[in-house]
Amino acid sequence: MEGAPLVRAPKLPLEHVRQKSEQRDLLAGCLVCSGRTPRWTKANAQALAAQHHDRTGHATWVTIATEIQYGNTAPDPRQADIEDAIASASSGDRPGAAPLPDPDAPAVPAAGVSAPTKAALSKRALAAAKPEPSNV
Ligand SMILES: [Zn+2]
Repeated sequence: MEGAPLVRAPKLPLEHVRQKSEQRDLLAGCLVCSGRTPRWTKANAQALAAQHHDRTGHATWVTIATEIQYGNTAPDPRQADIEDAIASASSGDRPGAAPLPDPDAPAVPAAGVSAPTKAALSKRALAAAKPEPSNV
């Protein structure tokens, strides 16, 4: 068959990109001038220790510590996107706390309760205002 379309494989992130961070700490000193106390601590500490030995003949030392970390401990932002997608799919994209309308509920909340009459109110008002009996 001529002109058949080629089936292409989907592009996937097949290549893993490794995150790497490296920190290098240098300490250098002169055993004659300062003993084991570091005298040079910047990136050129090794060169300064070598120069100091060449110029003075003093015994110098260099300590190099390299810390390498692969990967990152920070949370992956793609994980939050996945959780949001799952939450919106399970709630049907509606807010979860929205109340559903109740067709049996009365239109006015106090419809079944009768209001007190004017006479009942005045009886209660008189009872409340009645003076206490005096014991004179
Ligand atoms: Zn020295």
